[in-house]
Amino acid sequence: MTEVYLDYNASAPLDPRVFEAMAPVLSGEVGNASSVHRFGRRQAAAVDEAREHVAALVGGRPGGVVFTAGATEANNLALRGAVEAAPEGRQRMLVSAVEHASVGRTARWLADCGLVKLDVIGVTAGGFVEPDTVERLLGPDVTLVSVMAANSETGVLNPVGEIAERVRAAGAMFHCDATQMAGRLPFDMETLGADLVSVSGHKICGPGGVGALVGTRHALALLTPVVHGGGHERGLRSGSLNVAGIVGLGAAARIATDERQSESARVGALRDRLVAELGTQLAGVHQNGDPSRRLPNTANLRFEGADAEAVMSNMDPVAVSTGSACSAGSIEPSEVLVAMGLSHEAAFESVRFSLGRFTTESDIDTAVERAVASVERVRVMTG
Ligand code: PMP
Repeated sequence: MTEVYLDYNASAPLDPRVFEAMAPVLSGEVGNASSVHRFGRRQAAAVDEAREHVAALVGGRPGGVVFTAGATEANNLALRGAVEAAPEGRQRMLVSAVEHASVGRTARWLADCGLVKLDVIGVTAGGFVEPDTVERLLGPDVTLVSVMAANSETGVLNPVGEIAERVRAAGAMFHCDATQMAGRLPFDMETLGADLVSVSGHKICGPGGVGALVGTRHALALLTPVVHGGGHERGLRSGSLNVAGIVGLGAAARIATDERQSESARVGALRDRLVAELGTQLAGVHQNGDPSRRLPNTANLRFEGADAEAVMSNMDPVAVSTGSACSAGSIEPSEVLVAMGLSHEAAFESVRFSLGRFTTESDIDTAVERAVASVERVRVMTG
């Protein structure tokens, strides 16, 4: 049976056009982007072009793009950089309960080190942050608030603009992890009022291991670097630049910006058909997360009475995922689903389907067939 990949939110396949853009850098080019000779200058020019594409992806300034080794590092730089440089009296941080571990665990680590006081912003049963909840937690002692644009597990979108407005009114910085949103739906940090935005290459059909933190002039000036050294990237991220990766990220950003509108309509229709067919062919299917405010490519479905790990392995060669994680030898339910009020049992019955640029109608047919057979089998085995 043909393999079907419905795990784009974990990592999306490299677009061949991105590969084409990267190939000359990998095979024929030489030079350090910091060198002043012509070889180095060519590398620096390629990096600067990528900077423009990444800035355009999120509505930022090219000069505000700090290339990193992915969104994990960008999130670390935003949180740790802001806390270490926080002015006297601003030693509290607010982070939503459904953030990626690179935000959630970094915040917890900072709190455990005694560098910051942490308040976690709860979410609604639909999986999003209410601006009023943020407002209630804000105060003159808050240095940074971090709320993601779209959740990786449920695809649920947060009202980022309204949240940013309240955060700015309180004089704090607003960081938004747009890793899952950028390239899928329009995102304009200037209009929204975000100070710092994280993105990642491999979620937008670019290479893995490269990403960026995009900031306003003001916000970047307030950060302390996490990686020290030769002072690359405005002193915020030392290390010789990963030129091929950066060129790939730039090409992926350019393609995503050009194509996100048509792609989201096409992918959204496929996702809706997948959900509709599973709901027709199986009883006890529930959607996790508010379906009216969600990324077009994501569906998080609970199959009542069917353990998600078993469903997932029986679906092979169709790749999907669960949000559960292995921790200290035992399986923990998805923190995101639990934060939304799902019971552990319901969370353990939830499967994420995430589609993307190369998903076809026939992939959906195969996925429906395999998912139905798998859920029925698991229900019989355990029922
Ligand atoms: N933030 C979110 C919302 C993500 O989904 C991910 C990847 N799963 C990351 C951050 C981390 O990105 P990277 O793999 O580039 O470190």
